[in-house]
Amino acid sequence: MGKYDLIVIGGGPAGLTASIYASRAGLKTLVLEQTISGGQMRLTGIIENYPGFPEVTGAELSDAMYRQAQRQGAEIASASARSLRKDGDGFAIEASSGSHQAGAVISASGTYHRNLACRGAEEYVGRGVSFCALCDAGFVRNDTVAAVGGGNSALEEADYLARFASKVYVIHRRDEFRADKALQARALANPKLEFLLSSEVEAIEGSDIVERILVRNKKTGEVTPFAVGGVFMFVGSAPNTDYLPPEVDTAEGGWIKTDARLQTSVPGIFAAGDVRDTDLRQIATATADGARAGVNAARFLEGSVWKGLS
Ligand SMILES: Cc1cc2nc3c(=O)[nH]c(=O)nc-3n(C[C@H](O)[C@H](O)[C@H](O)COP(=O)(O)OP(=O)(O)OC[C@H]3O[C@@H](n4cnc5c(N)ncnc54)[C@H](O)[C@@H]3O)c2cc1C
Repeated sequence: MGKYDLIVIGGGPAGLTASIYASRAGLKTLVLEQTISGGQMRLTGIIENYPGFPEVTGAELSDAMYRQAQRQGAEIASASARSLRKDGDGFAIEASSGSHQAGAVISASGTYHRNLACRGAEEYVGRGVSFCALCDAGFVRNDTVAAVGGGNSALEEADYLARFASKVYVIHRRDEFRADKALQARALANPKLEFLLSSEVEAIEGSDIVERILVRNKKTGEVTPFAVGGVFMFVGSAPNTDYLPPEVDTAEGGWIKTDARLQTSVPGIFAAGDVRDTDLRQIATATADGARAGVNAARFLEGSVWKGLS
């Protein structure tokens, strides 16, 4: 049983930043990370929009944040949080590494983007398969790309991609889009977008990077290859919150609701980064959230009855 002032669930940019601020505030801090520190940031080849780093790889930035968190005294464990509940004046967390107690908790467990189940989809993540037009559109300048999905984010992001790419195939498995009418009208008016409806991506192929997709027309069964330099997946995303107690309020889709101090509906549980109900999910916003949640967790503990580590 480990007893900590603060446990941070997730070692992406939000969680690592929270642990830096909390450790510097003197809190004994544990970060639980179920895979590898850096989170989705680590999946990114080149990052060009994190201030101060005109061009940095996701792995470099992840390693730097990890080292900085350790240097400030945070303990980072390779473990998955399975449940979280109120326990006396603090919280009990069951993790793959065992049972832990903490006076405050920060949920920074990010999201998972749904990917297609087709051949090549997982293999090419970070090498042409992307989930973020804002992040990766610059890499497909003057290239032909595919955007997969039929909701608001698919059409919004396809429109954004068209500012960079020479052509965007919008591939949707149904006859009609689910997106708002205004977005549909804007997309239909965009001469760079070509719509492949009732169609599914059957395979993503290439060498080191994506070079082509095979698209099946669901009505005729015909499979056609299209040369593309990138495939952007907008087939849904969801927060990693399986471990959260039901008392924590969430918005539609399960995104965690917080107040301005990033505290959830349960005092002592904070949320930071992509897991939150928020309008922008980026590294810069995740680190900003982490800083605020780390500091506010320390302020919460100052005023709480948590008996700390005695
Ligand atoms: C391919 C790709 C490219 C991107 N490119 C850019 C870019 O260029 N610029 C930019 O600003 N943003 C980019 N983003 C978005 C950016 O990576 C995210 O906004 C950011 O990483 C969110 O940080 P986070 O800490 O909130 O969540 P995450 O980075 O998702 O980290 C959450 C961590 O929590 C861990 N976790 C989840 N559940 C548990 C659990 N139960 N127990 C323990 N650990 C758990 C996960 O393993 C993960 O490591 C990109 C995203 C992707 C997918």
